[in-house]
Amino acid sequence: MSRLTELLDGYRRFRDTGWREERDRWAELAEGQSPRVMVIACSDSRVDPAQIFDVRPGEIFVVRNVANLAPPYETTGGLHGVSAALEFAVTQLEVDEILVMGHGSCGGCAAALTGQFDGAEDGEGQFIAAWVRQLGPARDRVRQRHSELTPQAVLEMEWESVKLSLSNLRTFPWIAERERDGRLKLHGGHFSVAEGKFYLLDEAEVHFRPVS
Ligand SMILES: [Zn+2]
Repeated sequence: MSRLTELLDGYRRFRDTGWREERDRWAELAEGQSPRVMVIACSDSRVDPAQIFDVRPGEIFVVRNVANLAPPYETTGGLHGVSAALEFAVTQLEVDEILVMGHGSCGGCAAALTGQFDGAEDGEGQFIAAWVRQLGPARDRVRQRHSELTPQAVLEMEWESVKLSLSNLRTFPWIAERERDGRLKLHGGHFSVAEGKFYLLDEAEVHFRPVS
C-alpha cells in the first residue's frame, strides 16, 4: 500500500466522521475564517499545533517552518513567506494573540547549535544552513553557557529559538504597535515530545513552566 493510499484512507475517515460531525461548522467556514490565534511552529511531523491544542477547524492560523522561526522585519526584495503570513494574520485577520511554539528533539535547533550544515552545498543542506543561521545570536548565548553538546544545551537552544522569534516579531512595526496598545499579545511555549507536555514561557520571558 502506498503512503498516498494511507492518506486517502484517512481522508475517508475524515469524511465519514470529522467532516460529517462538523458539517455546519464547515459550511460556516466556507464563508470565511476568523481565527483569534496565530501559531508559529516547527515543520517537524511530531508537533502539529492543531493536534496538541485539540482545536476545531478555523480556530488557529498556523505557520510552520524549520525551527519555528519568525525572521526579522525586512523590506528588501525576496520571497518572505513567513512575513506574508504574519502580515495577513495580524493586519487582515487581526488575531488577538501569537504563540511561538518550540519543541523537544528539534533537528533545526540542533543543526544551528552544531553547525551541522555550515558550508553545505545546494541539495545537501545549503538552504537549511542559511535558514538556521538566523539563530546565530541564540546559538552564541547557549555556547557561552555550555561548552559541550549536552541534552540540556540542545534544550536551551530550543528555548532560545522561541525567545529569538519573539524578539524578531517585535521588529515588525505593525506587531510592535499592536502589542504596545494591547491589541496583540505574544507568547512563547515549548512542547516536549518525550513527555507529551507543553511548557509556557512566563510573562518575564525567562522560564518555561509546565502547564498543569
Ligand atoms: Zn523542529
